[in-house]
Formats: sequence, structure tokens, C-alpha cells
Amino acid sequence: MNSNSFQQLPLAAELLQNLDSLGYAEMTPIQAEALPVVLAGQDLIAQAKTGSGKTAAFALGLLHKLDREEFAPQALVLAPTRELAEQIAVETRRLARSTPNVKVLTLVGGTPLPPQANALKKGAQIIIGTPGRVEDHLGKNTLKLDTLTTLVLDEADRMLDMGFQESIDKIVSRSPTKRQTLLFSATFPNQISAIAKRVLRDPKTVKIESADDGAQIEQRFFQVGDDEERMLALQLVLQQQRPVSALVFCATKNDVRAVAEELGRHGHSVLALHGDLEQRDRDQVLVRFSNKSIPVLVATDVAARGLDIDALDLVINYQPARDPEVHTHRIGRTGRAGETGLACTLYNKREAYKLTIATKSFDADTSALPLPPSDLLKQPPLRSPWATIAIESGRKNKIRPGDIVGAITAGGEYNSDQLGKITVQSLRSFVAVDRKIAKAAAAKLSSGKLKGRKVKARLIAG
Ligand code: ADP
Ligand code: MG
Repeated sequence: MNSNSFQQLPLAAELLQNLDSLGYAEMTPIQAEALPVVLAGQDLIAQAKTGSGKTAAFALGLLHKLDREEFAPQALVLAPTRELAEQIAVETRRLARSTPNVKVLTLVGGTPLPPQANALKKGAQIIIGTPGRVEDHLGKNTLKLDTLTTLVLDEADRMLDMGFQESIDKIVSRSPTKRQTLLFSATFPNQISAIAKRVLRDPKTVKIESADDGAQIEQRFFQVGDDEERMLALQLVLQQQRPVSALVFCATKNDVRAVAEELGRHGHSVLALHGDLEQRDRDQVLVRFSNKSIPVLVATDVAARGLDIDALDLVINYQPARDPEVHTHRIGRTGRAGETGLACTLYNKREAYKLTIATKSFDADTSALPLPPSDLLKQPPLRSPWATIAIESGRKNKIRPGDIVGAITAGGEYNSDQLGKITVQSLRSFVAVDRKIAKAAAAKLSSGKLKGRKVKARLIAG
């Protein structure tokens, strides 16, 4: 048996079998450190980067401990955003799929309260929600936490960044004092130790240094003179790498806007992600980037944190990060799953001192490289072969990915190779399609039927 095998944990056979069938061959490092503590019922502070498998590190604990005969809230997981809460619910349901009678409920904004209140009445056991919406239900007494045995704060750093501190304190004050509390965070600012002191009891701390897998990330550093040259350097790096998916980090949302606009002016297919976007627009940006319709996403740290985006081939720091943790976190988004990633950092003379942060936790050579040759600019701008169609119908309308595939490929004009990732949200769905057929496929969806009903479908321009 492998030393990091799940089999060595005292988990029910059905959970272990399911892990096997999910292809979870062994525990990730954070799971190996955290799960024994979680299963022993102790409080825990766990720090590891995005994509390291933190969800299963607590969800398996919740499932293990669940009393399946008791139809009342036993576990509450708080997450910063609706997307993250939904991702956690998906993963928890996947982990629970061979375990009968597990009721998982998400409590997030953007949907009315009464149906959620009804679902609560029916006996939800594991509740996954955003602090705001959970507080709403507590306020209306549609949710009671007296039966709670476990509280999880996921992405605690981001919840604090988003101003949920008071809300979390209120929720904690409504929870039984005798409970297990688990806190997960990708970074560890001082505020986290403060909240941990208030909310956790004798916690064990486990931390996976990102430097462990830092070796899989190649770092390159480019010195630039002024902002014009910075912009040029960005384009040259993009042109030299021609990534399928690249994330560009900027210091402020004004920079995010300006950089995205400028890349757009040069014909690149690019989107901006920052805190001012409406949830609906934010969802759409993320879908188009993650389904590879848009090769370049420009973002602030806060906006990009905690997003579950598959391995990116390139991360660019338009400016160096303000501290080592942020740097580590940013570049950790490339080179996941054992592949080598590339992280390029642009800096000017005044910012040069910030580069020591990169050498601190990584064995990186920070000497400046010459900029890629400028004739790269003669290449065509970055565009994706995919485009996204938005469909105004989703899970609430019982739409499943297969329905969308069926509707587009019916009649045999198109085949499924011309379709990319399909995302079904509660009220909308998105499908990536070969750009060449995108217009016609959108028209076909609009004129035909989905689940026996007419739907609105449109090609998202760009
Ligand atoms: P984090 O919360 O640390 O950002 P997630 O829990 O979202 O990370 O996990 C990232 C991805 O890794 C998910 O797609 C998840 O299904 C997968 N994963 C988690 N644990 C394992 C494992 N032990 N083996 C293989 N894949 C795993
Ligand atoms: Mg997570």
C-alpha cells in the first residue's frame, strides 16, 4: 500500500471505493496532513494553495461523521462566493455518491429565500453557503444551528478580504460551542490568526509549502523601462508563448481595465475580471475563460483568488506581487497536475527590490532576460478556435449537458468534436463551439427545442 493511500484512513468502505472510482489514487499532501486531524475530531487550520484538494480534506470528514438518520443541519461550510459554494457542493456530492441518504444544500444569493427555506425544512444535513445568505436564513429563523457538529470556513482569507468578518462572527455565535471547526486558507495574513483565535479551539495547524511543487514552475523575469515598454513586453511574451489560457495579474482594477483594453485594441481576444463586475457578468467571464473561448484573462488578485480554473499554461505578473505569499499564489496557478508551467514577471527599476520575494520561496533565477524579439508582433493576435453560446435555460429547467449536445448535433450537420466544454448553471447554460459553426449553431438552438421547449440562445460576441 502506498504511504499516501486513502485506504489507511478509517473511512467507510463505500467512501473508499468511491474515491477509487473517482480516480483519487492517493491523498494530496494537504489531505494526507489534514484528514487524520479532521477524522480525529480536532479543530484544524490548514493552509495550502488553490487546487491542492482542500475540499475533499474537509468533505470526507463531514461525510465520515454524518449521522444519516438525523435530518437536521450537522455541518455548515462557509465560502466566499456563490461559485465557490457551488463547486464545494459538486465535489461533496461526488464524494458522497455511493453513500445513500446524504442531503447537501447550498444557500447562496441570487435565488429567492423561500425554496431554500423549504429545502431546509426537508432536513438538509450538510449546508454549504455564503455568509450573507446563511445570515439571512438565521435572521428569519429558517435555519437553526443547534444540531451543528462541524463548522468549516473555506477560503477564509478571501472571506475576510470581502468583508465577511462580522457576518462570520454572528454565524459562529449562533453555533453550539461544542463543535469541530476547520479553517482553510490559501494565504495566512494576520487577520486569519485573529479569527482563528476567536473561533477555533486548540487547533492543529497544517501547512503545505507551495515551494514543494515550485520546481514545476519555470520563472522568467523581464525588466522594463516605462509603462509603454511594459505593455510591449506583455504582448511579446504572449506572442512568444501563444498560450491557450493565460492569466495576467495587475495591481489595481484600473490597471486591469487599461491592460485588457489595450490588448483588445491590438486584436487579442481578452477579458477583464475585477471586483466591480456584476455577478452575472463575472460568471460569464469565467465560463468563457475556462472553456477556452478566451485565451487571455486580466485580473486583480482578489478577483482571481479561489477560482477553480484548470492548469493555465502561462501566468504573467504585469507588475510584481506585493508580497511573497501573493506571488506564490499567483504563479501556483500554472503548471498544475505535474506539468511544467511558466510564470513571467515584468518589473521596472523601482520594483526590482520586490523580486527578492520570488527567490525567497523558490529557487528562481531572477536575473533579467532580454525581451522576446519584437518581430513577434507581426504574428496574428491571440484568438481562440472556440466561441461561446449562451442559452437562457439551465438546471432549473432540467437541462443537462447531453441535451445541449443532442440539440446541436441532431440531423448530423455538426458532430460532437465541434463542441467544447458545456457549463450548466441554475438559470443559464453555456457551450463552447468551433468558431466556424458558432453562428449557425446558435441559430439552430434558437429555432429548435431543448427539453421540448423553445429557448433563447445567442453567440457571445468577441
Ligand atoms: P482547493 O480547494 O485546494 O483549491 P479542490 O478541492 O477544489 O482544491 O481540488 C482541486 C481538484 O483536485 C478538484 O478537481 C478535485 O476533484 C481534485 N482532487 C482532489 N483530491 C484529489 C485526489 N486525492 N486525487 C486526485 N484528484 C483530486
Ligand atoms: Mg477550495
